[in-house]
Amino acid sequence: MTIDVDEEKCIGCGKCKEICPKGGYIWKVDDVAHVIGLEFCHACTLCVMKCPTDAIIFLRRPGDYEKYYGQKD
Ligand code: SF4
Ligand code: SF4
Repeated sequence: MTIDVDEEKCIGCGKCKEICPKGGYIWKVDDVAHVIGLEFCHACTLCVMKCPTDAIIFLRRPGDYEKYYGQKD
């Protein structure tokens, strides 16, 4: 499992960190959001649902990115 943030879409609003039960451990938000503590994530996907710009890409399994978004360049 991994979480990516699309930096083109992220507006740095901090809602992902606010809603996350472990926000202080998992998220760092400046101009854009960064995942700094993925090991604390329990995959509730609240952050994904709360993000106003759909910037959070939540991938449950290796290979999901290619499956849903096409090949990375
Ligand atoms: S909620 Fe979405 S737009 Fe806001 S800081 Fe988090 S990733 Fe960026
Ligand atoms: S999936 Fe849940 S625990 Fe994981 S970063 Fe998002 S809100 Fe936090």
